[in-house]
Amino acid sequence: MSTIFSKIINREIPADIVYETENVLAFRDINPQAPVHILIIPKIEISKVTDIKTPEHSHLMGEMIEAANKIAKQENISETGFRLVFNCGDDSGQDVYHLHLHLLGGRKLSWPPG
Ligand code: AMP
Repeated sequence: MSTIFSKIINREIPADIVYETENVLAFRDINPQAPVHILIIPKIEISKVTDIKTPEHSHLMGEMIEAANKIAKQENISETGFRLVFNCGDDSGQDVYHLHLHLLGGRKLSWPPG
């Protein structure tokens, strides 16, 4: 089922896009939890981590990590550090059922998460 992120991919609603390749899109989170809070998504519809099942999906995950590394450099947080998070399912607090990797940084992040 399509989500609001499909509308961002199709440019039907605006987003602050910071990075794009053939397969991956990244944009700033509308409700940032850190000075840098960017969402990295595949352009194909995959609902959540447990739906990653094919070699193509696994390759896409690698592309998302590659994107995160490049964006962290762009945002000057590569050296200071950052956090990558996939929420998966209700208990994690996943709200949008289009796979997305949160890239968080620009401040000291606490651990464990809530
Ligand atoms: P999650 O709770 O892991 O599903 O995260 C979904 C994230 O999407 C939240 O951090 C929201 O703030 C963010 N979000 C929802 N709608 C938009 C939007 N239109 N543009 C940018 N970020 C959004």
